[in-house]
Amino acid sequence: MRIVVVGAGLAGLTAAELLHNAGCDVAVLEASNRVGGRAYTRSAEFINGQAAEAGAEWVDNVHPRMRGLVERFGLRMDDNATTWTAIRRWLFRDGALLGPADLARLDPQLGDELDRLEDFFASVAAGISDAAHPAQHPQAAHYDSLSAADIVDQLELGELARLFATRNMQGEFAAEPHEVSALFVAQQRALYEAAATPHGEVVAQRIVGGVSGVTAGLASALPQGMIRFGETVDAVTIDETGAHVRAGANTYHADQVVLACSLVPLRAVVFDPPLPPELAAAVHGLGYGRVTKTALQYPERVWPAGYATTTGRAQRVYEPTVGHPAESGILMGYTGGEGGTRLADLAESERMREIELSQREMYPALPPPLGGFSQAWSGLALFGGSYAVYRPGEITRFWDVLRRPHGCIHFAGEHTATWTGYLEGAVESGETVASRLLANR
Ligand SMILES: Cc1cc2nc3c(=O)[nH]c(=O)nc-3n(C[C@H](O)[C@H](O)[C@H](O)COP(=O)(O)OP(=O)(O)OC[C@H]3O[C@@H](n4cnc5c(N)ncnc54)[C@H](O)[C@@H]3O)c2cc1C
Repeated sequence: MRIVVVGAGLAGLTAAELLHNAGCDVAVLEASNRVGGRAYTRSAEFINGQAAEAGAEWVDNVHPRMRGLVERFGLRMDDNATTWTAIRRWLFRDGALLGPADLARLDPQLGDELDRLEDFFASVAAGISDAAHPAQHPQAAHYDSLSAADIVDQLELGELARLFATRNMQGEFAAEPHEVSALFVAQQRALYEAAATPHGEVVAQRIVGGVSGVTAGLASALPQGMIRFGETVDAVTIDETGAHVRAGANTYHADQVVLACSLVPLRAVVFDPPLPPELAAAVHGLGYGRVTKTALQYPERVWPAGYATTTGRAQRVYEPTVGHPAESGILMGYTGGEGGTRLADLAESERMREIELSQREMYPALPPPLGGFSQAWSGLALFGGSYAVYRPGEITRFWDVLRRPHGCIHFAGEHTATWTGYLEGAVESGETVASRLLANR
């Protein structure tokens, strides 16, 4: 079986390896000059051997595929396991950095209100018997028609809880609360709930040396030359002889095609015959979150440990180099939703300046930065965003159609996974497509 895989991110690399090992003739077409896609560790901008993730950063303890790859390639997780609720630790507002005790004094209801919000989503999640099929929830249409913002309004959360809820949506879903389907939030909660049972608590860690160690490992497991770099797929034609995948001047013939890239670049690909209407609607319509990550390295660490939420432009500020022995440290600004898009409109140097100002407002003792980068994913044509966000109405319209084969065309990538939006989901989707193809050959 001849297979063309479009995209050398985690999904494409996973599918390619499984299909190649099963004896298929595989070609991977990658538009850029590197593997990994949204898994991208950057170190060239930094001194003292420090690095920061431009894309995916955390691997949860409930992500067995990723943990397995970390082990397989001789990598290890760092010692700074963090629970996601740690995000509520610090708030910078009106010129003051408030710690957990200040927050409790300022708004004694804050913790309870945020718990009420989570309890609401947990109650909807309880109606999802299988997180792979959220549209089977008995009231799927109702909850899918509501946004996370509608729920915040219904629960009449106070100002501080709204701020944290908004920042959590901008961080987790890379979107504004009104852009996130309540059923999608519940699907993710159902998934975590089911996965967490054997672990007790969900914690996230970084991969020491960076997530690119995993994608480099996967690429090196493929035969030389299987990945063709600089090949941007622009047309897929299907006729009685099979699929013809065009990338500029080159055309690759295949029996089956795996489209393992974000849907945004696929919107520019010409399909002949055209994709069926409900599939085309999903390809062109599915929401994408927007994240801009700006990592600045400072010669000294003059900030408290932990994550800070800020009313300022950066939104969330934290240190990816926690535990690194050097005196220098990196501060990340993680800006999602509309804030991420606004930053994406600026030149990289301007983004870095904006985030530096936002960080300096919080920590006035910051020395001038040594260097850094700002990666605005929504401004990059090969990604068009950070990861999929199912907006109100989109779980019921798009979830199933993206997960079905369409003749010899198969979709893979995080947006087609149960673990949508995660590295784990990308690997999961590569496995799903490969096993479907192998089962049907
Ligand atoms: C800012 C950010 C933060 C994140 N944080 C986390 C996190 O902490 N934890 C986590 O688990 N996940 C996180 N994610 C999500 C995770 O990075 C993705 O789910 C995952 O990497 C997606 O992999 P993929 O293989 O589906 O797609 P991609 O990585 O996008 O790979 C697709 C590949 O296809 C290529 N391509 C695109 N168009 C074409 C074309 N026309 N022709 C040929 N090639 C093409 C691209 O260049 C790319 O290499 C984050 C993502 C971002 C952007």
